[in-house]
Amino acid sequence: MARILLLMDHGVDRVKVVTALRDAGQSPIDPAPGWDAPARLVQAVERATPDVVVIGCQADLEAACARCELLMEGDTTRYLPTMIAIPHHPSETEAIRVFAAGARDLVSLSDPMNLVSARIDNMARLNYLRRTFRKHHDALTARNEELDRIFETVTSGLAIVDERGRVVRMNARGREILGAQVGRFGLDDPTPATTATGGREHPILRAAVRGESVRGQRVELSSGRTGGERVLVVDAEPLFGEYGQRLGGLVVFRDETDSIRMQETLRGKAQELAQRTEEMEAFVYTASHDMKSPLWTIRRYAAMILEDQGEALGDEAHHFLERIEVNAARLGRLVEDLVRVVKVGKMELFLEPVAVDRPAREALRNLDAAVRQSGARVELPSELPAVLADPDRLVDLFENLIGNAIKYRRPEVPCVVSVRAVVEGENVHIQVQDNGMGIPEDQFERIFGLFQRLHTRDQIEGSGLGLAIVQRVVERHGGRIWVVSSLGEGSTFHVVLPAAPANEAVTPA
Ligand code: ADP
Repeated sequence: MARILLLMDHGVDRVKVVTALRDAGQSPIDPAPGWDAPARLVQAVERATPDVVVIGCQADLEAACARCELLMEGDTTRYLPTMIAIPHHPSETEAIRVFAAGARDLVSLSDPMNLVSARIDNMARLNYLRRTFRKHHDALTARNEELDRIFETVTSGLAIVDERGRVVRMNARGREILGAQVGRFGLDDPTPATTATGGREHPILRAAVRGESVRGQRVELSSGRTGGERVLVVDAEPLFGEYGQRLGGLVVFRDETDSIRMQETLRGKAQELAQRTEEMEAFVYTASHDMKSPLWTIRRYAAMILEDQGEALGDEAHHFLERIEVNAARLGRLVEDLVRVVKVGKMELFLEPVAVDRPAREALRNLDAAVRQSGARVELPSELPAVLADPDRLVDLFENLIGNAIKYRRPEVPCVVSVRAVVEGENVHIQVQDNGMGIPEDQFERIFGLFQRLHTRDQIEGSGLGLAIVQRVVERHGGRIWVVSSLGEGSTFHVVLPAAPANEAVTPA
């Protein structure tokens, strides 16, 4: 509501003005007492925060003009519209004097009072509108400045394009990313980047002209003769006006040249590595295969000599031949394991629903000698849940895990191995637990690597390939394997494999 401040001494004129304004629906306000002292005038007006100041003059026009001039000197009051109310019709000289004092208007109280109140009211409303407009304008300017700051500080390139895809604004990061090519980013260039990115599919065209949302589209900018291609990853969002009309788009872009080049290099290296690994595995496979028969020959001849001429040989020769036989046998096992490691990564799997206890029991039969020799007690429930797996590979898995549990037992306690399996959602969680030597925590992952052993061959025989084979078997089935162990207490190997579908028949044991 517009505020009208009356600087008028009490008297008939003031009553006339107040009455007329009230009739027009306005409630004029009075200044604080003491306002008429020149030293306090400006302060009194400031406090009242009016939209218009009406200065009365009764007979003394000069005093009214002096008050007006005082207000013109105040820092804030000088912008307030001031009107001087004269009791009679002003002469030309009086009117000139009033305007010279800085008043915006003058009213004659000898005019019809509704005209007087209308003029005062209009002036007040005008200032009220100006004040409100200014408040909104200031708020809008502050908001714009804030948006500008955000626009400039965003770490991605930002551009605003019009409805024809021409860049209207771009932030500093955008200019930095594009460098000399800044002019080629939008669609205003006669040879725009569109040609390099498949024309109609340029993200700016899609968003600003066709009104589509674009996410993560790659745009390649060729930097001419000097440099290679730059790769930008662009998001673009169309902008619409209040009535749905197309205004253009907001484009966000990042320079991904380095990371994309890096990914390409890495992909290349990974392919190279995969190819080398394959070559290496093929070599290991062939070499191991080729070694089998000479090894067999060595073992056989050593055995034959020992058998046929053992009596005639001296102790030393006897001992050497035995060593040949033992070591050839060890080498034979290593070769077998190597072939198995390579094979398990490639061989075709014959998946079928298998109750976990079945391959475990078969593995136990294969380990019969070790079980008997160690006196181990193996706890294996007769009915365990079924997994979807290749049964032969599961025999390998259990043979290695149970074999290790027995091999790495503690001589001072009776060896107990326990095999368990439970269904967990879509998987079966298998555990092979022992009360053996245990494994230090920092070796939990390493033991699954090729040739990784925690014991020397003099202590316990082994190739360091068993767990690598087990891990490959598990991974080929889409499962997971890990170990939890404490030194001197025992270890538990955990294997998670996909459960067999509920309605499929399980191969009986
Ligand atoms: P290998 O038994 O032929 O040495 P593995 O790959 O089967 O090779 O095992 C790697 C190493 O992990 C073993 O040398 C052994 O030190 C350790 N290990 C495996 N299983 C157990 C176990 N149940 N208890 C203690 N240590 C084990």
